[in-house]
Amino acid sequence: MNKPKIVILGAGYGGIITATRLQKTLSANEAEITLVNKNSYHYQTTWLHENAAGTLHHDRTRLDIKDVINPSKINFIQDTVTEIKPEDKKVVLTHGELNYDYLVIGLGFESETFGIKGLKEHAFSIASINAARQIREHIDYSFSKYHNTPAEKRDELLTIIVGGAGFTGIEFVGELANRVPELCKEYDIDRDLVRIVCVEAAPMVLPGFDPELVDYAVSQLEKKGVEFKIGTAIKECTEEGIIVAKGEETEEIKSATVVWAAGVRGNALVEQAGFEAMRGRVKVTKDMRVPGYDDVFIVGDSALLIDEVNNRPYPPTAQIAIQQGFNVAHNLAVLVRGKGELEEFTPDIKGTVCSLGHDDAIGVVFGKKLTGWKASFMKKVIDNRYLFVLGGPMLVLKKGKLNLL
Ligand code: FAD
Ligand code: NAD
Repeated sequence: MNKPKIVILGAGYGGIITATRLQKTLSANEAEITLVNKNSYHYQTTWLHENAAGTLHHDRTRLDIKDVINPSKINFIQDTVTEIKPEDKKVVLTHGELNYDYLVIGLGFESETFGIKGLKEHAFSIASINAARQIREHIDYSFSKYHNTPAEKRDELLTIIVGGAGFTGIEFVGELANRVPELCKEYDIDRDLVRIVCVEAAPMVLPGFDPELVDYAVSQLEKKGVEFKIGTAIKECTEEGIIVAKGEETEEIKSATVVWAAGVRGNALVEQAGFEAMRGRVKVTKDMRVPGYDDVFIVGDSALLIDEVNNRPYPPTAQIAIQQGFNVAHNLAVLVRGKGELEEFTPDIKGTVCSLGHDDAIGVVFGKKLTGWKASFMKKVIDNRYLFVLGGPMLVLKKGKLNLL
């Protein structure tokens, strides 16, 4: 009998957990499993803001996929997915095609610019290792140019704008606030000349999060020199900087570095496949399949799940993507073996922690509010736990955050 072919697209949180769970559950003669990813490495997206600010080298954030995949169980292909053809049960890659019996899509998120003029051309986004590396190098380069640039053109080299004060924006400015003094020392620049400006359209930072914790975060970041422009929307991005609006008033802020952290969407390939999607996210069935396509599962940020308590979508998070990986691996094993029960997926949200640099954070964990070193400690424990689940204690020792305080 032919072995069923399982193809997993993307080795982000959802994809790699699905793959590593399947390799634990199924024997090599039960299924032919293929994992496709554009890079040879898996990266922890949740650390990219540190790489982008330059507070953590990107090699700490990525790991070789071959280190966690057993090649006798999983065939890893390093290639880029260009098209998903669900009617033909086929996936097109840059260098070939794959047929599947079961498909798992874990292609993650893309930056959502909401059609705002100039953002795609002139702003950075913290969306991958390569993007983060480029942001770090660009900021370094801007500082290095300062003393060699005419006085009337150099202020903007030291102005960094972060669009959005959601979790990504806040975690990034937290890292920047720690990195800027180092950069100033390196390039002989007065710290007071540097501006880190975080622009948020909503009336508060971290909209919807616990107000007491938000106040703590804002006050800690302001002490480190971060400026917040709240209730202020980015309307346009140009080569020179941004144009923002607060009510009727508009303002131009000149800046050599604009980082857009104000929204994400699912991978465009998902909607191009013909699945009904909202900003690249498919409202999946309770067992994480695409409605009408029993052979296609989606994990991670391209899946849309509604929280029945408030009738709103769950936020796209690594926490949920990891749990979905476990669920989908279980359900695939049931389908392959033709025995056992398919499980519905329900997120088990243990909490949310937002870092404010390596030594400070805010969070709600198991319903308890945390700030300062306790929250920061908890964030590192969460990160290390993930590495443990993925690759055991050796991976924690190799890549983990062992300096917990
Ligand atoms: P991703 O992690 O996005 O990975 C997708 C994978 O698919 C990547 O390996 C990519 O290279 C690959 N890929 C993409 N397109 C193709 C293609 N065409 N062909 C082949 N391969 C492809 N969530 C939390 O729960 N906690 C946090 O603390 C947290 N911090 C965050 C910090 C930052 C800076 C950011 C940006 C996000 C953070 N998130 C956090 C959200 C979290 O990172 C995402 O929800 C999570 O990464 C989604 O995982 P995923 O499995 O969908 O895919
Ligand atoms: P987000 O959508 O959560 O936040 C974007 C912010 O940008 C919002 O506050 C929004 O009001 C603002 N915004 C939108 N348009 C704007 C404009 N034109 N001008 C100024 N501000 C504008 O996006 P995110 O922060 O990238 O987070 C994406 C997902 O990743 C979320 O689900 C989040 O929970 C998750 N995440 C989690 C963590 C964590 O748990 N520590 C860290 C980072 C990201």
